[in-house]
Amino acid sequence: MNLSMTGEELYRSIGVNRIINASGTTTMWGGSRLRPEAAEVMRKTSTVMVDINDLNKKAGEIIAEICGAEAALVTSGSGGGLVMQAAAVIAGNDPAKMVSLPDTTGMKNEVIIQKSHRFAYDQLYRAAGAKFVEIGDGRRCYPWQLEAAFTEKTAAVAYLFAAFVSRRAIPLPEVCEISHARGVPVIVDAASTLPPRDNLKRYIREGADLVILSGGKGIRGPQGTGILIGRADLIEAAAANAAPNQFLGRSMKVAKEEIMGLVKALQIFDSEDEEVENKRFKEMSQQVVDALIEIPGLEISVQHDEWNYLVPTARIYFTRDWKGPSRDVILDRMANGNPAIHLYQLGDLDELGVEPINLLDEEVPIVISRLREELLGSV
Ligand SMILES: *Cc1c(COP(=O)(O)O)cnc(C)c1O
Repeated sequence: MNLSMTGEELYRSIGVNRIINASGTTTMWGGSRLRPEAAEVMRKTSTVMVDINDLNKKAGEIIAEICGAEAALVTSGSGGGLVMQAAAVIAGNDPAKMVSLPDTTGMKNEVIIQKSHRFAYDQLYRAAGAKFVEIGDGRRCYPWQLEAAFTEKTAAVAYLFAAFVSRRAIPLPEVCEISHARGVPVIVDAASTLPPRDNLKRYIREGADLVILSGGKGIRGPQGTGILIGRADLIEAAAANAAPNQFLGRSMKVAKEEIMGLVKALQIFDSEDEEVENKRFKEMSQQVVDALIEIPGLEISVQHDEWNYLVPTARIYFTRDWKGPSRDVILDRMANGNPAIHLYQLGDLDELGVEPINLLDEEVPIVISRLREELLGSV
Protein backbone atom coordinates (compact mmCIF):
# COMPACT_ATOMS: atom_id res chain seq x y z
CA MET A 1 0.00 0.00 0.00
CA ASN A 2 1.48 3.22 -1.20
CA LEU A 3 0.37 6.30 0.72
CA SER A 4 0.11 8.35 -2.46
CA MET A 5 -2.77 6.13 -3.61
CA THR A 6 -6.42 7.20 -3.40
CA GLY A 7 -8.78 5.30 -1.14
CA GLU A 8 -10.18 3.40 -4.06
CA GLU A 9 -6.68 2.51 -5.25
CA LEU A 10 -5.68 1.31 -1.80
CA TYR A 11 -8.59 -1.12 -1.74
CA ARG A 12 -7.81 -2.23 -5.29
CA SER A 13 -4.16 -2.82 -4.33
CA ILE A 14 -5.30 -5.75 -2.20
CA GLY A 15 -7.84 -6.90 -4.77
CA VAL A 16 -11.02 -5.29 -3.42
CA ASN A 17 -13.27 -3.29 -5.75
CA ARG A 18 -15.33 -0.26 -4.81
CA ILE A 19 -19.10 -0.78 -4.92
CA ILE A 20 -21.99 1.67 -5.14
CA ASN A 21 -24.20 1.63 -2.06
CA ALA A 22 -27.75 2.82 -2.80
CA SER A 23 -29.16 0.62 -0.03
CA GLY A 24 -28.77 3.02 2.90
CA THR A 25 -26.33 2.63 5.76
CA THR A 26 -26.12 -1.14 5.35
CA THR A 27 -23.06 -2.48 7.16
CA MET A 28 -22.55 -5.19 4.52
CA TRP A 29 -22.13 -2.54 1.80
CA GLY A 30 -19.72 -0.30 3.64
CA GLY A 31 -21.90 1.26 6.34
CA SER A 32 -21.39 4.96 5.81
CA ARG A 33 -18.81 7.53 4.73
CA LEU A 34 -16.72 8.50 7.74
CA ARG A 35 -16.76 12.28 8.16
CA PRO A 36 -13.33 13.70 7.19
CA GLU A 37 -13.31 15.79 10.37
CA ALA A 38 -13.82 12.62 12.45
CA ALA A 39 -11.00 10.90 10.56
CA GLU A 40 -8.73 13.85 11.30
CA VAL A 41 -9.58 13.78 15.01
CA MET A 42 -8.94 10.02 15.02
CA ARG A 43 -5.57 10.39 13.30
CA LYS A 44 -4.42 13.00 15.80
CA THR A 45 -5.72 11.32 18.96
CA SER A 46 -4.65 7.79 18.05
CA THR A 47 -1.03 8.32 19.13
CA VAL A 48 -1.74 9.99 22.48
CA MET A 49 -2.12 7.87 25.62
CA VAL A 50 -5.09 8.62 27.91
CA ASP A 51 -6.97 6.92 30.76
CA ILE A 52 -9.84 5.08 29.03
CA ASN A 53 -12.19 5.26 32.02
CA ASP A 54 -11.66 9.02 32.15
CA LEU A 55 -12.24 9.28 28.38
CA ASN A 56 -15.40 7.14 28.56
CA LYS A 57 -16.77 9.39 31.29
CA LYS A 58 -16.03 12.74 29.63
CA ALA A 59 -17.12 11.61 26.15
CA GLY A 60 -20.26 10.17 27.74
CA GLU A 61 -21.11 13.54 29.29
CA ILE A 62 -20.88 15.35 25.95
CA ILE A 63 -22.94 12.67 24.17
CA ALA A 64 -25.56 12.61 26.92
CA GLU A 65 -25.97 16.38 26.67
CA ILE A 66 -26.51 16.21 22.89
CA CYS A 67 -29.01 13.35 23.28
CA GLY A 68 -30.96 14.80 26.20
CA ALA A 69 -30.07 11.81 28.37
CA GLU A 70 -28.71 11.48 31.91
CA ALA A 71 -25.65 9.56 30.77
CA ALA A 72 -24.04 7.84 27.78
CA LEU A 73 -21.42 5.25 26.85
CA VAL A 74 -19.70 4.59 23.53
CA THR A 75 -20.09 0.93 22.59
CA SER A 76 -18.75 -1.26 19.81
CA GLY A 77 -21.57 -0.66 17.36
CA SER A 78 -25.19 -0.97 18.28
CA GLY A 79 -24.47 -4.68 18.24
CA GLY A 80 -22.12 -4.35 21.22
CA GLY A 81 -24.57 -1.90 22.76
CA LEU A 82 -27.34 -4.50 22.75
CA VAL A 83 -25.14 -6.95 24.65
CA MET A 84 -24.30 -4.21 27.16
CA GLN A 85 -27.98 -3.29 27.56
CA ALA A 86 -28.77 -6.86 28.52
CA ALA A 87 -25.70 -7.15 30.78
CA ALA A 88 -26.66 -3.91 32.56
CA VAL A 89 -30.27 -4.92 33.27
CA ILE A 90 -29.41 -8.51 34.22
CA ALA A 91 -26.13 -8.25 36.14
CA GLY A 92 -26.08 -4.55 37.01
CA ASN A 93 -22.66 -3.68 38.41
CA ASP A 94 -22.44 -6.64 40.76
CA PRO A 95 -19.06 -8.27 39.93
CA ALA A 96 -20.23 -11.72 41.06
CA LYS A 97 -23.04 -11.60 38.54
CA MET A 98 -21.02 -9.81 35.84
CA VAL A 99 -18.37 -12.50 35.86
CA SER A 100 -20.98 -15.26 35.44
CA LEU A 101 -22.49 -13.92 32.20
CA PRO A 102 -23.78 -15.37 29.93
CA ASP A 103 -24.78 -17.87 32.63
CA THR A 104 -27.69 -16.09 34.31
CA THR A 105 -28.80 -18.90 36.61
CA GLY A 106 -30.44 -17.41 39.69
CA MET A 107 -30.59 -13.88 38.23
CA LYS A 108 -33.46 -11.82 36.90
CA ASN A 109 -32.92 -12.76 33.26
CA GLU A 110 -36.27 -12.48 31.47
CA VAL A 111 -36.66 -9.87 28.76
CA ILE A 112 -40.22 -9.29 27.61
CA ILE A 113 -40.55 -8.57 23.89
CA GLN A 114 -43.54 -8.07 21.59
CA LYS A 115 -43.43 -10.82 18.98
CA SER A 116 -43.43 -8.24 16.18
CA HIS A 117 -40.20 -6.89 17.68
CA ARG A 118 -38.22 -10.13 17.42
CA PHE A 119 -35.41 -9.32 14.99
CA ALA A 120 -32.16 -10.50 13.50
CA TYR A 121 -30.05 -8.77 16.16
CA ASP A 122 -31.89 -10.09 19.21
CA GLN A 123 -29.35 -12.89 19.57
CA LEU A 124 -27.17 -10.15 21.04
CA TYR A 125 -29.48 -9.92 24.04
CA ARG A 126 -29.28 -13.69 24.40
CA ALA A 127 -25.48 -13.43 24.18
CA ALA A 128 -25.58 -11.87 27.65
CA GLY A 129 -27.86 -14.63 28.92
CA ALA A 130 -31.27 -13.00 28.44
CA LYS A 131 -34.29 -15.29 28.01
CA PHE A 132 -37.07 -13.86 25.88
CA VAL A 133 -40.68 -13.86 27.02
CA GLU A 134 -42.71 -13.18 23.88
CA ILE A 135 -46.05 -11.40 23.99
CA GLY A 136 -48.66 -10.82 21.29
CA ASP A 137 -49.04 -12.84 18.12
CA GLY A 138 -46.80 -10.77 15.86
CA ARG A 139 -49.68 -8.89 14.32
CA ARG A 140 -51.14 -7.44 17.48
CA CYS A 141 -50.23 -6.97 21.10
CA TYR A 142 -52.43 -5.65 23.90
CA PRO A 143 -51.40 -3.83 27.10
CA TRP A 144 -52.97 -6.62 29.19
CA GLN A 145 -50.60 -9.11 27.55
CA LEU A 146 -47.65 -6.99 28.66
CA GLU A 147 -49.12 -6.61 32.17
CA ALA A 148 -49.53 -10.38 32.46
CA ALA A 149 -45.95 -11.13 31.36
CA PHE A 150 -44.06 -9.67 34.33
CA THR A 151 -42.61 -12.12 36.82
CA GLU A 152 -40.11 -11.84 39.66
CA LYS A 153 -37.47 -12.75 37.03
CA THR A 154 -38.25 -9.88 34.63
CA ALA A 155 -35.10 -7.87 33.90
CA ALA A 156 -36.40 -5.52 31.19
CA VAL A 157 -38.85 -4.95 28.37
CA ALA A 158 -37.20 -4.69 24.93
CA TYR A 159 -38.50 -2.38 22.20
CA LEU A 160 -37.45 -2.09 18.55
CA PHE A 161 -37.59 0.85 16.16
CA ALA A 162 -36.60 0.00 12.60
CA ALA A 163 -37.88 0.51 9.06
CA PHE A 164 -40.69 -1.84 8.04
CA VAL A 165 -41.24 -3.11 11.58
CA SER A 166 -44.93 -3.37 12.36
CA ARG A 167 -46.50 -0.35 13.97
CA ARG A 168 -49.15 -2.67 15.40
CA ALA A 169 -47.29 -2.76 18.66
CA ILE A 170 -48.02 -1.11 21.99
CA PRO A 171 -46.57 2.42 21.67
CA LEU A 172 -43.33 3.08 23.55
CA PRO A 173 -44.77 5.65 26.04
CA GLU A 174 -47.42 3.15 27.09
CA VAL A 175 -44.90 0.31 27.41
CA CYS A 176 -42.76 2.59 29.59
CA GLU A 177 -45.67 3.56 31.80
CA ILE A 178 -46.71 -0.06 32.38
CA SER A 179 -43.12 -1.23 32.96
CA HIS A 180 -42.10 1.62 35.23
CA ALA A 181 -45.13 1.02 37.42
CA ARG A 182 -43.47 -2.34 38.15
CA GLY A 183 -39.97 -0.92 38.46
CA VAL A 184 -38.83 -2.59 35.23
CA PRO A 185 -36.59 -0.72 32.73
CA VAL A 186 -37.37 -0.45 28.99
CA ILE A 187 -34.44 -1.03 26.63
CA VAL A 188 -34.69 0.27 23.07
CA ASP A 189 -32.87 -0.64 19.86
CA ALA A 190 -33.21 2.32 17.49
CA ALA A 191 -29.83 1.69 15.82
CA SER A 192 -30.63 2.83 12.31
CA THR A 193 -33.22 5.55 12.92
CA LEU A 194 -30.91 8.56 12.38
CA PRO A 195 -31.57 10.95 10.66
CA PRO A 196 -34.02 12.47 11.58
CA ARG A 197 -32.02 14.18 14.31
CA ASP A 198 -35.01 14.41 16.60
CA ASN A 199 -34.60 10.66 17.19
CA LEU A 200 -31.42 11.43 19.17
CA LYS A 201 -33.75 12.58 21.96
CA ARG A 202 -37.14 11.09 21.12
CA TYR A 203 -36.95 7.68 22.79
CA ILE A 204 -35.58 9.05 26.06
CA ARG A 205 -38.28 11.73 25.96
CA GLU A 206 -40.87 8.96 25.57
CA GLY A 207 -39.60 7.23 28.69
CA ALA A 208 -36.98 4.67 27.55
CA ASP A 209 -34.37 3.75 30.17
CA LEU A 210 -31.62 2.67 27.74
CA VAL A 211 -31.40 3.39 24.00
CA ILE A 212 -28.85 2.21 21.46
CA LEU A 213 -28.06 4.24 18.31
CA SER A 214 -25.36 3.39 15.76
CA GLY A 215 -22.40 5.74 15.52
CA GLY A 216 -21.40 4.44 12.11
CA LYS A 217 -24.70 4.78 10.28
CA GLY A 218 -26.47 8.15 9.81
CA ILE A 219 -24.14 9.97 12.22
CA ARG A 220 -21.18 9.03 9.99
CA GLY A 221 -18.80 8.41 12.85
CA PRO A 222 -16.43 5.42 13.05
CA GLN A 223 -18.27 2.44 11.55
CA GLY A 224 -17.56 0.24 14.58
CA THR A 225 -19.12 2.56 17.18
CA GLY A 226 -22.48 2.79 18.90
CA ILE A 227 -24.05 5.17 21.39
CA LEU A 228 -25.75 3.83 24.49
CA ILE A 229 -27.77 6.51 26.27
CA GLY A 230 -30.10 6.50 29.25
CA ARG A 231 -30.44 6.36 33.01
CA ALA A 232 -27.23 7.12 34.89
CA ASP A 233 -27.31 3.97 37.06
CA LEU A 234 -27.86 1.69 34.05
CA ILE A 235 -25.13 3.41 32.01
CA GLU A 236 -22.79 2.95 34.99
CA ALA A 237 -23.70 -0.75 35.02
CA ALA A 238 -23.15 -1.03 31.25
CA ALA A 239 -19.74 0.65 31.61
CA ALA A 240 -18.83 -1.76 34.42
CA ASN A 241 -19.54 -4.71 32.10
CA ALA A 242 -17.71 -3.08 29.16
CA ALA A 243 -14.05 -2.84 28.11
CA PRO A 244 -11.52 -1.94 29.42
CA ASN A 245 -12.92 -3.98 32.34
CA GLN A 246 -12.43 -7.73 32.12
CA PHE A 247 -16.02 -8.84 31.87
CA LEU A 248 -18.34 -9.81 28.98
CA GLY A 249 -17.85 -6.51 27.16
CA ARG A 250 -14.09 -6.98 26.95
CA SER A 251 -14.65 -8.64 23.57
CA MET A 252 -16.32 -5.44 22.37
CA LYS A 253 -13.52 -2.97 22.84
CA VAL A 254 -13.69 0.57 21.47
CA ALA A 255 -10.43 2.39 20.75
CA LYS A 256 -9.72 5.82 22.22
CA GLU A 257 -9.55 7.44 18.79
CA GLU A 258 -12.88 5.84 17.83
CA ILE A 259 -14.49 7.40 20.89
CA MET A 260 -13.03 10.80 19.93
CA GLY A 261 -14.02 10.41 16.27
CA LEU A 262 -17.56 9.55 17.28
CA VAL A 263 -17.87 12.61 19.55
CA LYS A 264 -16.69 14.83 16.69
CA ALA A 265 -19.05 13.17 14.18
CA LEU A 266 -22.00 13.47 16.56
CA GLN A 267 -21.30 17.16 17.21
CA ILE A 268 -21.31 17.82 13.47
CA PHE A 269 -24.37 15.62 12.81
CA ASP A 270 -26.30 17.44 15.54
CA SER A 271 -25.44 20.88 14.15
CA GLU A 272 -26.28 20.17 10.50
CA ASP A 273 -29.34 21.65 8.80
CA GLU A 274 -31.69 18.75 8.19
CA GLU A 275 -33.84 20.69 5.73
CA VAL A 276 -30.85 21.36 3.49
CA GLU A 277 -29.83 17.71 3.74
CA ASN A 278 -33.32 16.45 2.91
CA LYS A 279 -33.56 18.84 -0.04
CA ARG A 280 -30.40 17.29 -1.49
CA PHE A 281 -31.63 13.71 -0.92
CA LYS A 282 -34.99 14.64 -2.44
CA GLU A 283 -33.34 16.06 -5.55
CA MET A 284 -31.17 12.96 -5.96
CA SER A 285 -34.21 10.70 -5.58
CA GLN A 286 -36.23 12.84 -7.97
CA GLN A 287 -33.54 12.40 -10.64
CA VAL A 288 -34.08 8.65 -10.41
CA VAL A 289 -37.86 9.04 -10.58
CA ASP A 290 -37.68 11.36 -13.60
CA ALA A 291 -35.42 8.96 -15.48
CA LEU A 292 -37.63 5.88 -14.97
CA ILE A 293 -41.12 7.31 -14.71
CA GLU A 294 -42.25 6.32 -18.21
CA ILE A 295 -41.48 2.60 -17.82
CA PRO A 296 -44.81 0.72 -17.98
CA GLY A 297 -45.75 -1.57 -15.10
CA LEU A 298 -43.72 0.31 -12.49
CA GLU A 299 -44.89 2.87 -9.95
CA ILE A 300 -42.06 5.20 -9.14
CA SER A 301 -42.11 7.91 -6.51
CA VAL A 302 -40.06 9.74 -3.90
CA GLN A 303 -40.94 8.44 -0.43
CA HIS A 304 -40.16 10.17 2.85
CA ASP A 305 -41.90 9.38 6.12
CA GLU A 306 -41.09 8.90 9.79
CA TRP A 307 -41.34 5.08 9.74
CA ASN A 308 -39.92 3.36 6.68
CA TYR A 309 -38.18 5.96 4.54
CA LEU A 310 -36.36 8.11 7.06
CA VAL A 311 -34.46 9.88 4.30
CA PRO A 312 -36.08 10.78 0.94
CA THR A 313 -35.77 7.66 -1.22
CA ALA A 314 -36.75 6.77 -4.81
CA ARG A 315 -39.13 3.82 -4.55
CA ILE A 316 -39.76 1.52 -7.49
CA TYR A 317 -42.88 -0.59 -7.08
CA PHE A 318 -43.46 -3.54 -9.42
CA THR A 319 -47.20 -3.54 -10.18
CA ARG A 320 -49.25 -6.47 -11.50
CA ASP A 321 -48.81 -5.04 -14.99
CA TRP A 322 -45.04 -5.39 -14.81
CA LYS A 323 -43.91 -7.72 -17.59
CA GLY A 324 -40.19 -7.93 -16.86
CA PRO A 325 -38.10 -10.01 -14.45
CA SER A 326 -38.90 -10.05 -10.73
CA ARG A 327 -37.56 -7.56 -8.28
CA ASP A 328 -35.10 -10.13 -6.95
CA VAL A 329 -33.67 -10.77 -10.40
CA ILE A 330 -33.19 -7.03 -10.93
CA LEU A 331 -31.52 -6.68 -7.52
CA ASP A 332 -29.28 -9.60 -8.33
CA ARG A 333 -28.24 -8.26 -11.73
CA MET A 334 -27.52 -4.81 -10.27
CA ALA A 335 -25.42 -6.34 -7.50
CA ASN A 336 -23.48 -8.49 -9.96
CA GLY A 337 -22.88 -5.80 -12.57
CA ASN A 338 -19.84 -3.61 -12.97
CA PRO A 339 -19.76 -1.58 -10.81
CA ALA A 340 -21.73 -3.61 -8.29
CA ILE A 341 -24.75 -1.57 -7.18
CA HIS A 342 -26.70 -2.43 -4.04
CA LEU A 343 -30.25 -1.10 -3.74
CA TYR A 344 -32.65 -0.56 -0.84
CA GLN A 345 -34.80 -3.66 -0.35
CA LEU A 346 -36.41 -3.69 3.04
CA GLY A 347 -39.98 -3.11 1.90
CA ASP A 348 -42.67 -5.27 0.32
CA LEU A 349 -41.50 -8.11 -1.87
CA ASP A 350 -42.44 -6.06 -4.90
CA GLU A 351 -40.48 -2.92 -4.31
CA LEU A 352 -36.95 -1.69 -4.27
CA GLY A 353 -35.41 1.70 -3.65
CA VAL A 354 -32.53 4.00 -4.37
CA GLU A 355 -31.52 5.41 -0.97
CA PRO A 356 -29.25 8.43 -1.42
CA ILE A 357 -27.53 8.73 1.98
CA ASN A 358 -24.37 6.95 0.80
CA LEU A 359 -24.45 8.10 -2.84
CA LEU A 360 -22.05 10.65 -4.27
CA ASP A 361 -23.65 13.07 -6.74
CA GLU A 362 -21.68 11.50 -9.61
CA GLU A 363 -22.94 8.01 -8.71
CA VAL A 364 -26.59 8.88 -9.27
CA PRO A 365 -26.36 8.87 -13.11
CA ILE A 366 -24.50 5.52 -12.96
CA VAL A 367 -27.27 3.97 -10.85
CA ILE A 368 -29.90 5.41 -13.21
CA SER A 369 -28.28 4.14 -16.39
CA ARG A 370 -27.74 0.65 -14.95
CA LEU A 371 -31.36 0.55 -13.73
CA ARG A 372 -32.62 1.65 -17.17
CA GLU A 373 -30.50 -1.08 -18.76
CA GLU A 374 -31.92 -3.81 -16.53
CA LEU A 375 -35.52 -2.54 -16.48
CA LEU A 376 -35.88 -1.48 -20.13
CA GLY A 377 -33.59 -4.09 -21.64
CA SER A 378 -35.74 -6.82 -20.26
CA VAL A 379 -39.29 -5.62 -21.00
C1 LIG B 1 -27.68 -1.81 12.21
C2 LIG B 1 -28.50 -2.31 13.32
C3 LIG B 1 -27.92 -2.89 14.45
C4 LIG B 1 -26.43 -3.08 14.56
O1 LIG B 1 -25.79 -1.85 14.57
P1 LIG B 1 -24.21 -1.74 14.40
O2 LIG B 1 -23.91 -0.33 14.78
O3 LIG B 1 -23.93 -2.00 12.95
O4 LIG B 1 -23.59 -2.74 15.30
C5 LIG B 1 -28.74 -3.31 15.47
N1 LIG B 1 -30.07 -3.17 15.41
C6 LIG B 1 -30.69 -2.63 14.33
C7 LIG B 1 -32.17 -2.50 14.32
C8 LIG B 1 -29.93 -2.18 13.26
O5 LIG B 1 -30.52 -1.63 12.20
